[in-house]
Amino acid sequence: MDPELIKDCVHCGFCLPSCPTYVLWGEEMDSPRGRIHLMSQHVEGTPITPEMAGHFDACLGCMACVTACPSGVQYDRLIEQTRAEVEREHVREPRERAVRGLVFGLFPYPRRLRALRPTLGLARRLQPLLERAHPSLGAMIALAPVPGRRQRLPGRVRAVGERRAVVGMLTGCVQNEFFPQVNAATARVLAMEGCEVVIPPHQGCCGALSVHSGRDDQARRFAKRTIRTFERAGVDTVVVNAAGCGSSMKEYAELLADSPEWAGRARALRTVDLAEWLAELGPVAERHPLPVTVAYHDACHLAHAQGIRAQPRELLRGVPGLSLRDIPESDLCCGSAGTYNIFEPSAARDLGDRKAERVRSTGAQLLVSANPGCTMQIAAAMRRAGGEIRVAHTAEILDASLRGVSPSFLDAAGGKPRS
Ligand code: SF4
Ligand code: SF4
Repeated sequence: MDPELIKDCVHCGFCLPSCPTYVLWGEEMDSPRGRIHLMSQHVEGTPITPEMAGHFDACLGCMACVTACPSGVQYDRLIEQTRAEVEREHVREPRERAVRGLVFGLFPYPRRLRALRPTLGLARRLQPLLERAHPSLGAMIALAPVPGRRQRLPGRVRAVGERRAVVGMLTGCVQNEFFPQVNAATARVLAMEGCEVVIPPHQGCCGALSVHSGRDDQARRFAKRTIRTFERAGVDTVVVNAAGCGSSMKEYAELLADSPEWAGRARALRTVDLAEWLAELGPVAERHPLPVTVAYHDACHLAHAQGIRAQPRELLRGVPGLSLRDIPESDLCCGSAGTYNIFEPSAARDLGDRKAERVRSTGAQLLVSANPGCTMQIAAAMRRAGGEIRVAHTAEILDASLRGVSPSFLDAAGGKPRS
C-alpha cells in the first residue's frame, strides 16, 4: 500500500454518508475513513488480522467515496492495493478458499460458463441445498438470469451509410454468455451510427473481476491478452458495454506499470464506454418512437469510476416517446459490485432490497442499466419482493428505436428464471 496515498486523507468524514456499508451498519471501520485508518495501521506494521480482512472484504469497491471526497483521496487505488495485500497475507478458511477458487475458475472463462448453461435449471432446483452448503453458492444460483439465446456475432460488421469510425468491441464473459442479445444490439447500434465494428472471436476475460478482487497476476495476464487481441484486430479504440469491464480496461496502464512496454501498449489502446462513445460521435441514425417509461440505474463503475452519468441519459432522452424517471438515492450501490453479491451475500441482499424499493417507487415499466451484474442483482431483488420488472441495456433501447421495432424485452419475463 502506498503511504503517500493514505496521507491524502484528512479524516474529514465527508465520504461517510455516501458509503453503502456505513449507511447499512453505521460502523466507522466499515466506512472509507475507517478502512483508510486500518490501511495506515498495516503500513505501520500491524499484520492483517481476520477482522481487518473482514472490513476490507466488506467494501464494495463502489467508488462512491471517491466521488464524495473533497481532498481527492484515491481510494480506488488504495483498495486495489489493499486487496492484493489481503490475498497475499491473509489465509482464508478452507470453505471460503474453495468457493473463491470456484468463482475465479469459472467466471473469467467464457467457455466454462457456456458449459454450465444447460445445468442451470437443475442448479435452481437444488438451490436450497446449495444455500445450506455455502451461502455464496445459493446466492450465485439465485442471481443467475435465464440466459439469452446464443447469437453468433460476425468478426466484422460494416457501417450503415457513410463510415465515420472503425472500432473494436469487447464481448465480455458474463455479458456474452448471459446477455448475448446486448452484444448483438451494441454491434447493430454502432453500425447504424456509422461505425465499422471489429469483433475479434475468442476474446477472453478483460481481467475486471480479478483486479477488483486483488488477484493481480491473473488480472495482468488477462489484460495483456486483451491488448494483444485488439492490436491484432488492427483497432485503436475499443467500445465496451459493461461498466465494470470498461473501468478496468481504462486502468490497464496502471495495472501494467511494472512493464514500460506493456504500459505503453495499454495507453495506445483507447477504451470507451458505449454511451460515452455514442455521445461523442453524435447521432446520425433516425430514432423511432418507443413509448416506454424507463428508470435508469447508474452502475457504480460507470458513474463513480468513469464519471459517465449524463451521456446515457442524453441518449435515452433522444428516443421519442421515452419517459425517463430518476431513481432516488441513485448514487448508492445496488450491492452487485462484481463478485460482492456472491462473497458477501447478506450485505448485498440488504442493498439489493433497498435499491429494488427505490426502483419500484419510480413506477417505471423498465429498468435500464449498463452493467450485467447490476441488472442481475436488481432483477433478483425485485423477484424476492414478489414483483418483477423488465430489464434492458441502453444498447437494446437504442437498437429498438433505431430499427423501429417493438422490443422483445418488453414481452419477455423480465429476467425471471424458469426452472
Ligand atoms: S468503495 Fe464504496 S463501500 Fe468501499 S469504502 Fe468506498 S463508498 Fe464504502
Ligand atoms: S476519504 Fe476523503 S472525504 Fe473521506 S475522510 Fe478521507 S479526506 Fe475526508
